[in-house]
Amino acid sequence: MDIRTTARTELIDITDLVRTVLKESGIKDGICVISTRHTTSGIIVNENERGLKNDILDMLEALVPENKSYAHNSIDNNAGAHLRAVLLGMSETIPVEDGHLVLGTWQSIFFVELDGPRDRTVHVKMIKS
Ligand code: ZN
Repeated sequence: MDIRTTARTELIDITDLVRTVLKESGIKDGICVISTRHTTSGIIVNENERGLKNDILDMLEALVPENKSYAHNSIDNNAGAHLRAVLLGMSETIPVEDGHLVLGTWQSIFFVELDGPRDRTVHVKMIKS
């Protein structure tokens, strides 16, 4: 599925989009793999709360400061985004039971933009069990 991000860094809740893909697949039991096809973005599961979303971005800035001298910046000037993507990982795997994603009440699936704004592609693979 295609996503257009609107900021340099942001968390985009894609849970409803993934649920739509699941519904269209007709799969009742199995696993769902959500992956990003980009090296400067990530996929995570956490709570969709405004303050927490800012905290996550602040944490990434603290762990991987934007204004540091990175080797990759000499050719692409976005090393920080790549390094943050390494920390987040490129996919999440979620069980599917009775046609529903097995997620807790406060769990949402996020696409994390780390070098936006850009047009992005998220791949959702449903595997029937
Ligand atoms: Zn790069």
